Amino acid sequence: MVATQNLGYPRIGKRRELKRAVERYWSGKGTAEELASVAAEIRRANWATQLAAGIDRIPCNDFTYYDHMLDTACLWGMVPQRFGAHSPGEPVSLETYFAMARGGKDAVALEMTKWFDTNYHYLVPEFDGPQPSRCGTAVVDAFKEARAQVGAAATPVLVGPLTFVLLGKRHTKSFAAHVADLLPLYAALLADLAAAGAEWVQIDEPCLVQDRSADELALYTQAYTTLAAGSRPKIMLQTYFGSLGPNWDTVMALPVEGVGLDLVRHPGNLRDLLERGIPAGKLLGAGILNGRGVWRADLEATLGTLERIAATVGPENLVIGPSCSLLYLPHDVNLESGHDAEVLANLSFAEQRLAELRTLANGLQGGREAIAGELAADRARLAARAASAAHHLPTQQRLAALDDSAFSRPEPFSERIERQNVRLGLPAFPTTTIGSFPQSAEVRAMRAKYRTGKVTQAEYDDWVKGRIDDLVARQEAIGLDVLVHGEFERTDMVEYFGAQLGGFIVTEHGWVQSYGSRCVRPPVIVGDVYRVAPMTVETSAYAQSRTQRPMKGMLTGPVTILNWSFVREDLPRSEVALQIGLALRDEVVDLEAAGIPIVQIDEPALREGLPLRRADWPEYLDWAVRAFRLAASGVRAETQIHSHMCYSEFNDIIDAIDAMDVDVISIENSRSNDELLQAFTQNRYERLIGPGVYDVHSPRIPSVEEMAERLRRASSVLGATHLWVNPDCGLKTRGDAEVWPSLEHMVAAARELRGAIA
Ligand code: GLN
Ligand code: ZN
Repeated sequence: MVATQNLGYPRIGKRRELKRAVERYWSGKGTAEELASVAAEIRRANWATQLAAGIDRIPCNDFTYYDHMLDTACLWGMVPQRFGAHSPGEPVSLETYFAMARGGKDAVALEMTKWFDTNYHYLVPEFDGPQPSRCGTAVVDAFKEARAQVGAAATPVLVGPLTFVLLGKRHTKSFAAHVADLLPLYAALLADLAAAGAEWVQIDEPCLVQDRSADELALYTQAYTTLAAGSRPKIMLQTYFGSLGPNWDTVMALPVEGVGLDLVRHPGNLRDLLERGIPAGKLLGAGILNGRGVWRADLEATLGTLERIAATVGPENLVIGPSCSLLYLPHDVNLESGHDAEVLANLSFAEQRLAELRTLANGLQGGREAIAGELAADRARLAARAASAAHHLPTQQRLAALDDSAFSRPEPFSERIERQNVRLGLPAFPTTTIGSFPQSAEVRAMRAKYRTGKVTQAEYDDWVKGRIDDLVARQEAIGLDVLVHGEFERTDMVEYFGAQLGGFIVTEHGWVQSYGSRCVRPPVIVGDVYRVAPMTVETSAYAQSRTQRPMKGMLTGPVTILNWSFVREDLPRSEVALQIGLALRDEVVDLEAAGIPIVQIDEPALREGLPLRRADWPEYLDWAVRAFRLAASGVRAETQIHSHMCYSEFNDIIDAIDAMDVDVISIENSRSNDELLQAFTQNRYERLIGPGVYDVHSPRIPSVEEMAERLRRASSVLGATHLWVNPDCGLKTRGDAEVWPSLEHMVAAARELRGAIA
């Protein structure tokens, strides 16, 4: 009997009910009881959907008000001192929970960071606080709640102890010692789950798809040997987002009843599995359907793979599921109406994945005849797609015709910068911003009216122009040197370009949780990418016409657009990146022709797209840099190309940054200059750098002296002629009340430095 398992389900609600309930609660308009009842209703609906789809193992404890890593930290009472004293065993209050997530009165929130290579962000547990203790009964309660609804299918999901420790920070002792603190707590929890009737528990250890030291692997063996010894449910040790690679032997030898593998993200697991099988008596969790992408699986091919797997491990040892939790997908394709049925027929969101899973299990169980109808329909779908408008010949022809010269600017940086200096005539320590300005309630309201047709195109365009006029005047008044238009017309930067580029669709309800209550709607790349018409040229040219000072054109780079979209799966990502690069190149060239002297091509997501294993980095960086260079290399030496990246760990990728060959790069640098600056000096990076002089994520208004001091230090390391002066990132999430005084101080700091070198 081939069983099916799901590993996690989107928790934001089909209509983002959780977002609204949580935000109502935060604003004081809703009570904790209302929030709890909305949450319970989402869980109920999710379980009903999974039950109706015939899934045999249905996850519970995969729900959260904010983040599952935060839940785990709270379960173990790991409340940092700054949120108030926490006594062992005491359940963490909702107030403290949200304070840890979002910051309290005087306490900064836990750090938030990317969950592996996804666009989901988790809160980083801190290990220098109270000794862990079991606080509250949340997990067992979640299990009982699920069990009442879905019966024996209910399977609790836990973040595994090793992954939890490895992803934390502020460790005060060895990993082994921190794990040792947690193991008795995990063991007791497992015993309680067994007593409550859980047959299986899913323990997530995604850190096993990363490079792990021998010591860490030994720790895995030790820890799971300890956990296995107690009274407990059977353990499905779940990995995802990559292959086990060299960790294979260790994982297969762990004393657990099941091992879950991601067979989609990376080819290694399937290869190893077919070659080596799995140890006798273990159950294989075969992650066969993509939990990270929205393309419907090729039914016939997937079934073929499953048949080979079943022949290798024995069908009785097989449970099939998605490659990872479905958290990374929107809820339901059937909510979409604005697109061709033919396009939508190729997409599969969480709900559709469940149906695919059931079909595959039926096919595996009953043979191909059992699903003959589904197989025929899927063949027809694939044939239609092959013949469809996904192909845009001009894109393919232009890419095929490119030679190396398209990927580099003819003049070296040293020559370009001289010509740019003559053209721009900027002072030393030129000041600028990263692009966006506060998106006030008024700005958001106007965009919403435009979207829903309550204002006409002409009214909207006039309004955007008015905002630009105002912003240009204010930037001039405080003495900024290089101006921006403010990006008032953009909601999410990737959605903005996705909505205009050919080959993309944007969904109406395709929301995916990014962090907490924040959701994004990644555009879907459904065909060859091309530029339908200029996208930003009119706006940038208008902004330039309002000032004598240089105006920066603002684009989002090809790698970032790719990494924040759902990408088609019938072309390599590298090829799709080049297609986007080509479309952007046309835009850059048009901006230049419209008289824009500086074009900034943002690549905030370049680093986060790095593969999870180092061995795979060079290939990624190679095509990522090529795509960027394709976008940036179509202009004359006099046109200055900037890029912006929202992070400061460059040591690892400095060669790739160098290879991007941008004239000016602005980067985040809010914590400390020193580490960052070293990356650039030790590698003799010759181009210009704007290390952010203040942190835009904090409402604090930094003083002139503080920023001048940062600049002095940066300039003593990098050299005064190499520096630009700018904030860390875009200003769209801040308010005018903080932004303008901060920028005035920033300009004053730059002037102070100019005075000193004069
Ligand atoms: N130009 C964008 C802005 O200022 C850059 C955003 C980003 O780096 N994430 O908002
Ligand atoms: Zn940024």
